[in-house]
Amino acid sequence: MNVPLLDLKAQFRGIKKEVMDVVETTCEEQAFVLGSRVVELEQALASYVGASHAVGVASGSDALLLSLMALGVGPGDEVVTVPFTFFATAGSVSRLGARPVFVDIRPDTFNVDPQQIEQKITARTKAIIPVHLFGQCAEMGAINEIAKRRKVAVIEDACQAIGAMQNGIKAGALGDMGCFSFFPSKNLGGFGDGGLITTHDAKLHEALAMLRVHGSRVRYVHEQIGINSRLDALQAAILRVKLNHLDRWTEGRRRNAVRYERLFTEARLLDRVTQPVTQPGNYHVFNQYTIRAQRRDELKTFLKDRGIGTEVYYPIPMHVQDCYRLLGHKKGDFPMSEQAAAEALSLPVFAELTDEQLGYVVDSIQAFYAKR
Ligand SMILES: *Cc1c(COP(=O)(O)O)cnc(C)c1O
Repeated sequence: MNVPLLDLKAQFRGIKKEVMDVVETTCEEQAFVLGSRVVELEQALASYVGASHAVGVASGSDALLLSLMALGVGPGDEVVTVPFTFFATAGSVSRLGARPVFVDIRPDTFNVDPQQIEQKITARTKAIIPVHLFGQCAEMGAINEIAKRRKVAVIEDACQAIGAMQNGIKAGALGDMGCFSFFPSKNLGGFGDGGLITTHDAKLHEALAMLRVHGSRVRYVHEQIGINSRLDALQAAILRVKLNHLDRWTEGRRRNAVRYERLFTEARLLDRVTQPVTQPGNYHVFNQYTIRAQRRDELKTFLKDRGIGTEVYYPIPMHVQDCYRLLGHKKGDFPMSEQAAAEALSLPVFAELTDEQLGYVVDSIQAFYAKR
């Protein structure tokens, strides 16, 4: 049997007609950058997320970069975030000449430990970037409380968490700005790169809309130094079609997570693998179903040999990356992030997985641990 980590071909088969129709129409329109297709997607996603505004941009990485630019973050400033994340979270801070200040994660959810945030905030701190890792919101109540009291902004890295909720409020509507990615492997994936920023704040919206087109509102008049980070009409049109299916796909992921839970219990694997934990009040969208596993790397190879795709998100935390040597961190500084990097393994959880495939994954994990 073959069980890929993600099967986008299976997803495409289900929506091919709708997608190809809108691609054809958009091609006939011959308007490829921003424009009405992008505005339509922005409106649909602002409404989906429950934010007042949305700004389509070229990628999730640019969404983070532009959010920081809209806050005026620059050299000498600090931004608090986690070391256990995709590079773009910290990289966007560094690209503006600011310093990422790391806070360790909680061992159960892989998300930032809010208890450790406040001690990292200084007079130079401009923002906190909580990452809603793997599709579950970080503890936004506690984070927003600290941010408000210390007068710093909150940028949600919601790139893996479209549709996720906390106490009924969606990711992207919980902070000052929410950053989304449409990279194909995200829960709402385009046919290439894309991203979006949501906000309740009209001033931030105005700044973001300008910054993505070289700081210009009126053509060739530049009020600020921005960048070129525009969303394509084709991507927007395809994403608008896919948005209609997002909740159904998310439900499929959540159903598979529940099935894993039952199968791991039945297979008596709970002393070998730790299942992902959902905190009360959270609606987890499982962009990844990430377990902690003993002898993780051996298990990964064993599963690969049996035709099962898995991935390690993320093997090297930011504080020990070569490019961050200058920050002066060493191994041991963020023990929970380091342990997660050594133990985390993401299993297939996409909506189209069959019961047989799920059973095969769990049987294979059981076979691995039974061998020794
Ligand atoms: C995917 C991702 C990004 C960046 O998104 P791109 O669209 O690939 O630039 C940023 N942060 C996290 C947590 C992500 O998963």
